[in-house]
Amino acid sequence: MERVKTVIVIGGGAAGFFAAIACAEANPNLKVIILEKSSKLLAKVRVSGGGRCNVTHACFDPSDLVRNYPRGGRELLGPFHVFSPENTIEWFASRGVKLKIEADGRMFPTTDDSTTIVNCLMNAAQNALVNIRMNSPVHSIHKREDNLFELGLSDEEKMLCDAVIVASGGSPSLKGFDCLKGTGHTIIEPVPSLFTFNMPHNPITQLMGISVDPVQVKIIGTKFINEGPLLITHWGMSGPAILKLSSFAAPKLAELNYNFSILIKWLPQFTEDSMRSKLNELRKELAKKKVSTSNPFLLPKRLWEHLLNVSVTDVEKEWAQLNNEELRKLISVLIADEYNVQGKTTFKEEFVTCGGVSLKEVDFKTMQSKKAQGLFFAGEILDIDAVTGGFNFQSAWTTGFIAGKSLVYYLEHLSTL
Ligand SMILES: Cc1cc2nc3c(=O)[nH]c(=O)nc-3n(C[C@H](O)[C@H](O)[C@H](O)COP(=O)(O)OP(=O)(O)OC[C@H]3O[C@@H](n4cnc5c(N)ncnc54)[C@H](O)[C@@H]3O)c2cc1C
Repeated sequence: MERVKTVIVIGGGAAGFFAAIACAEANPNLKVIILEKSSKLLAKVRVSGGGRCNVTHACFDPSDLVRNYPRGGRELLGPFHVFSPENTIEWFASRGVKLKIEADGRMFPTTDDSTTIVNCLMNAAQNALVNIRMNSPVHSIHKREDNLFELGLSDEEKMLCDAVIVASGGSPSLKGFDCLKGTGHTIIEPVPSLFTFNMPHNPITQLMGISVDPVQVKIIGTKFINEGPLLITHWGMSGPAILKLSSFAAPKLAELNYNFSILIKWLPQFTEDSMRSKLNELRKELAKKKVSTSNPFLLPKRLWEHLLNVSVTDVEKEWAQLNNEELRKLISVLIADEYNVQGKTTFKEEFVTCGGVSLKEVDFKTMQSKKAQGLFFAGEILDIDAVTGGFNFQSAWTTGFIAGKSLVYYLEHLSTL
């Protein structure tokens, strides 16, 4: 009788569950085991999206979808043709969980409760007879000459298996990737992604609560620029424009030790020349009106007053009384307002690290390691991360699904490979 083949999935998070379920459903003769180091399963799914779980994003064209991944976008294009947000919706629907789309494209369970997603994944794993062991951290992975993998759990305990899926998530430090040391994989040093900018003692923070949409934010001395809504907070600046920028520029900002300057274009539709013409027109049209009480660009009132305070000697002046130097300063603050950023704050809703297993060493058709056959990767362990909006989970579902399925193919064809 043929020996029952064993598959071990390292990590009981979103990617690990999805991979284990895909694998066990595709071949019920395999013994599929999830090893989870902690005493909690699907912990991040539970707390995600403020307890509602932003499962995916209603973005159905893979070419558009990949633009939300500062790292991994190019590599995910193929995988998203195999398992897309549409497949995620169908996967959950076929297991009784309906997702809804919010105005900004984010998708949540109709229950608005992450427990729905946790229970769905737990039930699917149970139905597919996936074994789960908690409090079982894997410290080492070693491929033996007989093609079996030996996983070290402790000095006393080792487990053997025919194939492994590493889905142990991201880590803020290189230490979190220690279990991969024996695999020869390169780890791109982790740095935080998705954070807000601190501007301690800057007078702009007195405008906390004000949001402006859209603004353009550029990091001085870099190519990073982004347009979108901006929120002024009591510690600095936040909102989608800042978060997206923090994500795309994450490695560069870590290199700068989170000390850098940004330029804000409060009115992105204007160039320097068109703004000069507009202000000259206003000087004539509103000649006898006070600059402080007229708000020609319909900016939030307190912001307009703040921008005048830093550019005009007396805000009680009338438009006709503005001198050329004041006009020059006003143009400058409206379209190139400079702020110094000193430090960052983790975004409360969704935080991720960039860095992880180098994507060059993984075949994205199968999610298999290019260094060791039978070793697969899924989820945030890879050097993949996305902006906020459900994209991080989508990458976990997609890579988990493909890893699980292709592992089955690998084992079924092992003797002929
Ligand atoms: C507060 C918060 C909210 C978020 N909200 C959203 C959201 O709404 N939408 C979205 O798309 N993304 C969200 N994210 C990001 C998303 O949670 C992650 O991208 C996703 O969970 C990654 O899944 P994963 O399975 O790869 O890793 P994880 O979910 O981190 O799971 C990895 C698992 O592996 C275990 N593990 C680690 N090392 C070992 C080891 N050596 N041996 C055994 N087990 C190990 C860990 O304990 C963990 O359980 C959020 C993140 C946070 C922190």
